[in-house]
Amino acid sequence: MHGTKILTEADRLMTVCNSCRYCEGLCAVFPAMEMRRAFSDGDLNYLANLCHSCGACYSDCQFSPPHEFDVNVPKTLAIARGDSYAAYAWPRALSGLFARNGVAISVIAAFCVAAFIVGFAAFTDRQVLYGIHTGPGAFYAMMPHNAMALLFGAAFLYAILALLMGVRAFWRDIGEPVGMTTDVGSIWQAIRDAGELRYLDGGGVGCFNEDDKPTDRRKIYHHLTFYGFLLCFAATCVATLYHYLLAREAPYAWWDLPVVLGTLGGIGLLIGPLGLLAAKWQRDPVLADQARTGMDVAFILMLFLTSLTGFVLLLLRETAAMGPLLALHLGVVFALFITMPYGKFVHGIYRFVALVRYARERKMMGHV
Ligand code: SF4
Ligand code: SF4
Repeated sequence: MHGTKILTEADRLMTVCNSCRYCEGLCAVFPAMEMRRAFSDGDLNYLANLCHSCGACYSDCQFSPPHEFDVNVPKTLAIARGDSYAAYAWPRALSGLFARNGVAISVIAAFCVAAFIVGFAAFTDRQVLYGIHTGPGAFYAMMPHNAMALLFGAAFLYAILALLMGVRAFWRDIGEPVGMTTDVGSIWQAIRDAGELRYLDGGGVGCFNEDDKPTDRRKIYHHLTFYGFLLCFAATCVATLYHYLLAREAPYAWWDLPVVLGTLGGIGLLIGPLGLLAAKWQRDPVLADQARTGMDVAFILMLFLTSLTGFVLLLLRETAAMGPLLALHLGVVFALFITMPYGKFVHGIYRFVALVRYARERKMMGHV
């Protein structure tokens, strides 16, 4: 007996696949499946989060529809994966945000942007808000640095706490003992696998999307998005160090490290999300959990808007539009932070944890 119908279906498929084993070279899911004879809910959630949704096992399967076995591993694991995000959400009271996630994220983002615009209008003198400010500290004419650091620091710490609590729930569900943090080798292997998206390549030929011709498009756009995000995060960290260690205040010159990192990351966050959106639009619906398209699109758009509003602010920061543009950008970034534990962002976290477990399992079974 399983907790949900989709886990029961996943169990049926894994039992079929465990007899067939044709796809064992395609990704990590099938070797992990072969280490088991029976599947608990936790095992199935682990396999679901290990799947990178490349679609290869559907394209290659001799038992996919219209065969009576009706085997569709990518879609079944995608639905189970989406369900698991809500199940691990912390606090539990907010798991409902995953139900109509696209709407929820849009409403929260709109509220955050409105709050920053209203806040700027209420607490900043009109002359200052629409004035031209240049040089170090220009942004803080709109909002004191300490208030900005406090607000965003609190949002970021809350997101980290909620994500860690989610990981704790996932780790318990998949039946792992506490103490994996001592296994540095498995974590390093998972970092490498995640960093190169090793299992989003259909076993080496590429990802299946709108037809039977595999390509690396989704992998490339995902890389642009992921590394773009990391570069933007690095830009924020460097700017924080500049502020507190070197007493150098933003905004910085275009050639300065935080701006260079942010610009490179921002380019990735413009091109990557657009490519992912296009791929999603074209994707064969048979491979995807269509009920959660809103969740995927909302997260992709949040990343895109973070970059877009950042670029517009960078270009127009020495004009009278700087104040309203800063409010817009901060509103989007704040919304991105507080919604990270309640949207598609979590897929990267749980997939990474699943990769750590996979690396551990392989080591324990003597496969590496
Ligand atoms: S997806 Fe199909 S071909 Fe692949 S292992 Fe399962 S049953 Fe076999
Ligand atoms: S969709 Fe790709 S990653 Fe997922 S189980 Fe199938 S082959 Fe593996």
